Amino acid sequence: MKKLLSTIFFISSLVSYAEGFQIITLGSDGGVMDGSISGYLIRDKNDENFIALDAGTVLPGIKSGLEKESFKNITIPQDTEWSDIGYIFREKIKGYLISHGHLDHISGLVISSTEDTAKDIYGLNSTIETLKNNVFNWKLWPNFSNEGEGFKLNQYKYQVLEPNKIKDLNGTNLKVTAFPLSHSNYESTMFLLENNDEYIVYYGDVGPDKVEKSNGLEESFKVLGPLIKDKKLKAIMIESSFDNSKDDKGLFGHLSPRWINEEFKVLEKYSGKGTLKGLNVVITHIKPSLKKSENTRENIRKELLNNNIHGVKYYFPTQGESLEF
Ligand SMILES: [Zn+2]
Ligand SMILES: [Zn+2]
Repeated sequence: MKKLLSTIFFISSLVSYAEGFQIITLGSDGGVMDGSISGYLIRDKNDENFIALDAGTVLPGIKSGLEKESFKNITIPQDTEWSDIGYIFREKIKGYLISHGHLDHISGLVISSTEDTAKDIYGLNSTIETLKNNVFNWKLWPNFSNEGEGFKLNQYKYQVLEPNKIKDLNGTNLKVTAFPLSHSNYESTMFLLENNDEYIVYYGDVGPDKVEKSNGLEESFKVLGPLIKDKKLKAIMIESSFDNSKDDKGLFGHLSPRWINEEFKVLEKYSGKGTLKGLNVVITHIKPSLKKSENTRENIRKELLNNNIHGVKYYFPTQGESLEF
């Protein structure tokens, strides 16, 4: 009997073991309209703790996610003094991965910091220096960090990521490796997230190598190629700030559908011909237009879907939506 029970327990624990990642969009846009800009949560589905991928918008994204039941698998205790938004924000986000210091990637983190708990902020040295010197300096905002100017409130701990070096993300099951990218001559970052030999990649703002006169994207593709070949890469999160009407001079370190196709040709060189078919690609950082006649999101969607030369599977999540890979 005891053996039977333990067998049943063993089987049921296998069944309940959730493989893969959950991603919740906190902010889907690349600026203009505050309230839904550049921020995502990611977790190993087998663990309730998230890491934020950029933090342009935080609390409005959690609110929207709660309304859309994207947090239904997260336990919120009955006896907490915090609202559901407050509890998820304070207790379930364990740290922030910041791709670069531009305002649309940090504004939510800054504005909600007065209600936040002790957390790590991870980034390449250039990103951490921007936060240290230009943000948490008592001039733009009080110094909530553990380094830099004036009295240190010690709520956030800066964690400088060395390029190409894997690091555990405290409080979660995830590990990260950072790779530098070129974003209009400014350094941005690709984060490769790993759990159990499965991967998700998140690109911060980035321009085409040819326009940027950089090899940042190609170098990142050398890393992704073998992972795609071995079917270990579950999704690519990459920006398309503009539709194809934007000429190269107007890109200012961003991608468009045409350039995504061009760059994926380079990626395919490293992953193998035909290997991108069916690959999950999440489009981020769409810059909305305020012109009546322009719907950038719709244009980008059509341009990518109508000319999907590699047969990838595109996603265009909006605020609060959950994706599982
Ligand atoms: Zn941006
Ligand atoms: Zn930027």
